[in-house]
Amino acid sequence: MTHAIDTHVTNDVAIAAGALLDGDVVAFPTETVWGLGALATDPLAIAKIYAAKGRPNDNPLIVHVASMDAALALFTRWPSRDHAETILRSFAPGPITVIIPRPAHLPAEVSAGLPTVGLRIPSHGVAQALLQAVGLPVAAPSANASGRPSPTTRDGVLASLNGKIPLILDGPRGELGLESTVVDCTGATPTLLRAGAVSVESLRRVAPTIKLLADAEAQARSPGTRHRHYAPTCRVHLATSDTRSLPEGATYETSAYIGLTAPSAVESYRLHRICNSVEHYAHELFEFMRLADNAKVELLVCERVPVAGIGRALMDRLHRAARGGSSPSP
Ligand code: AMP
Ligand code: MG
Repeated sequence: MTHAIDTHVTNDVAIAAGALLDGDVVAFPTETVWGLGALATDPLAIAKIYAAKGRPNDNPLIVHVASMDAALALFTRWPSRDHAETILRSFAPGPITVIIPRPAHLPAEVSAGLPTVGLRIPSHGVAQALLQAVGLPVAAPSANASGRPSPTTRDGVLASLNGKIPLILDGPRGELGLESTVVDCTGATPTLLRAGAVSVESLRRVAPTIKLLADAEAQARSPGTRHRHYAPTCRVHLATSDTRSLPEGATYETSAYIGLTAPSAVESYRLHRICNSVEHYAHELFEFMRLADNAKVELLVCERVPVAGIGRALMDRLHRAARGGSSPSP
């Protein structure tokens, strides 16, 4: 039987860095979603991430470092290394993850046994301060129980992991609200594995050959995308702005609505959130899902957005939430 542990919250970066260096897990904010960190060089610490999240052991972690120098220290020599370096130099620190060959000093556990590893430099001030204080790479998936939407607030972390992790480093909510863009840079052509806050349009400007995959192929290459993800407990229904009526059998009293344009009956929903831009919608989505679940909503109606800019990542998450697992086409 496992016993619940006390989850403490601190604002002290030195305490959080000390806990990581002692081999504990610590949740911390980033500009995308909250991460659950552990020393990337310590297999026992990494195992605690999988245990706390209930994460399937074939789902690799992303390694976080503070600076370009620290990132380049993890680069080995491989033919397409220039792509990874160019993409990082263009968008990091920020919401971009490059997949590179795993260097010998990072244990296989960090990437679920794969010969590759995800690498990211977050820009959030608290994440930066923590990584600088630790001075070693920190593996960090999103700080949620596996399969649930990523948390974008401290309360979202507590809702999922209270009693399962010893420490949360508190800090302001990140500006983005969806996970990083993941680009595989191990082969000849950079390949998008997960849409995110760095748009395909901006990636094309620095990596014109970037390849998009059909979902089945992306799932084969990015284990995490195979699993149920981003789904609240309630049912999710996607609606276009001209057909935003409730599906048959649903009632306003047990439904919630999020989108850019208000349907005529918006006040009748138990909860509703009208966002002023696609960026704002992306920022609010995961927290709204959590509030909808808290309010015991049965159905969440989400307005569709055009698949462009961060709208691509937003639609990817909405499709996964609605289908409980996969996104349609690239
Ligand atoms: P999370 O940190 O929970 O947002 O999940 C990390 C995402 O990055 C998952 O979708 C993983 O499949 C993907 N990922 C991390 N490392 C690798 C890797 N070495 N190869 C392919 N995909 C990866
Ligand atoms: Mg995750």
